[in-house]
Amino acid sequence: MRLLMWLVLAVLVYFALRKNFRTRQNKTPSESAASNEWADATSTYSANRKESEAMLSCAHCQVYFPASEVVVRNQQNFCCSEHAEQADRAKNATHKPTK
Ligand SMILES: [Zn+2]
Repeated sequence: MRLLMWLVLAVLVYFALRKNFRTRQNKTPSESAASNEWADATSTYSANRKESEAMLSCAHCQVYFPASEVVVRNQQNFCCSEHAEQADRAKNATHKPTK
């Protein structure tokens, strides 16, 4: 029974890979043009952001992010509220160790 499960999984993976390979090989001109357009749009978008915004580094994960998205907690910059809370929790854990 377990062997059958693995066999089904292997067939599914095979078909998934084959489908992925085919879509990469037979890209129609309209599709590639659309993806180029999209790449252009994103590159201009990121270029605009770079010019207008300062980048800050997250105190928790060290990832650089735009200053407009900063979350400040305890005079430290974080990329998101989740990381601010995680750092808060880590700090509390060191200050008040549990038994
Ligand atoms: Zn972060």
